[in-house]
Amino acid sequence: MTLSLQTLREWDSTDPLASFRDEFDLPDGLIYLNGNSLGALPKAAKERAQQVIEQEWGQGLIRSWNTADWVNQPRRLGQKIAPLIGAKAEEVVVADSTSVNLFKVVAAALALQQKKGRHEIMTEPGNFPTDRYILQGLSLSLAGDPVLTTLPATEIPDRISEQTAVVVLTHVHYKSGQTHDMKAITRKAHEQGALVVWDLSHSTGAVPVDLNGAEADFAVGCGYKYLNGGPGAPAFIYVAEPFHDKVEQPLCGWFGHSAPFAMLDDYEPVGDIRRMLTGTPSVVANSLLEVGLDIYGRVDMQQLREKSIRLTSTFIDLVEQNCAKHGFTLASPKDSKVRGSQVSLTHPQGYAIIQALIDNNVIGDYRAPDILRFGFAPLYVRFEDVWLAVETLNKIMDQALWQDERFQKQQAVT
Ligand SMILES: *Cc1c(COP(=O)(O)O)cnc(C)c1O
Repeated sequence: MTLSLQTLREWDSTDPLASFRDEFDLPDGLIYLNGNSLGALPKAAKERAQQVIEQEWGQGLIRSWNTADWVNQPRRLGQKIAPLIGAKAEEVVVADSTSVNLFKVVAAALALQQKKGRHEIMTEPGNFPTDRYILQGLSLSLAGDPVLTTLPATEIPDRISEQTAVVVLTHVHYKSGQTHDMKAITRKAHEQGALVVWDLSHSTGAVPVDLNGAEADFAVGCGYKYLNGGPGAPAFIYVAEPFHDKVEQPLCGWFGHSAPFAMLDDYEPVGDIRRMLTGTPSVVANSLLEVGLDIYGRVDMQQLREKSIRLTSTFIDLVEQNCAKHGFTLASPKDSKVRGSQVSLTHPQGYAIIQALIDNNVIGDYRAPDILRFGFAPLYVRFEDVWLAVETLNKIMDQALWQDERFQKQQAVT
């Protein structure tokens, strides 16, 4: 089928999620295909920011820990994330960054497994850099000499053995957008007595996840991508309930204590998910993240997934239809069943092309060495945007606009 702008506008007019776009403050004329990296600003976040700063902090001061219920934010926000990832309300808590949380859960999983003589951490090459760095740091710094094994994802299921303590994988790959089969890999790991930690940074709010259905052990995820929590928003941790009274994590601060205000000398973890907490939560940041989560409270995740698939498939079809001669290669799976909510293309001039797109009001991003990445946040990206983005891409290629001097010099953040 040859797609037309009119068809895409018709899809927008019958899109059951269309009204969510009005809840976001997007600059006029901008096509934002980077919600997978930094989600858009919910309009309600501005009012909430003012309230938390002027009222809760300014007027309430220290009293707000109780009167504004700051103290329960980490759990309350966790309860709101739980339905998006197929977890029970009491299995998720919000804290720290994804990197720090990954350190905590992998160390915790490892501690459980080292008691059984298992020391191997397994991951894949090309996993998100911070995930790899955290695992490298962990394997150097933790007692018991953990060993980090890197294997291609396709080999991992068959290489999990009685040595393996924990497998650490990102559910939707940040570069390709390819998804792992969470259920199958978790089952395979469990058959060998290993645990699995899933990084849901590119899944949460983009792809329905069923942690309980997959009998997943541990997971972490990001608050500032599809969840729209704002730059550097706090992240989350999931620990399956059966581990709640056994799991021990090394950054055991007072917010994970059973009686933080008893001011005791010795650590005694609380018997629930809060034992994954470390120090004082980021109240202002949590308050803004909660606005994003409250939007998701009204979203049907099945509808979201259907729209996401249609957005990404349409983008792929339009690029094929219009840009075939320009030398792009699809770096994401063609099969939508194993694709997250992003599409990646490769092109040797990827960086300059992305810069030219941004200059023409279409924001995607570049990931070294040659990936052009486009994220389709279904709550605010329209089908019409997909059309306009591909039209702009085609113009940039036809007119060689990317060759401009300005687009050649790489900036600190790509
Ligand atoms: C975005 C992302 C992170 C981010 O980690 P920070 O600690 O927030 O910098 C980590 N892992 C994956 C897979 C991500 O996509």
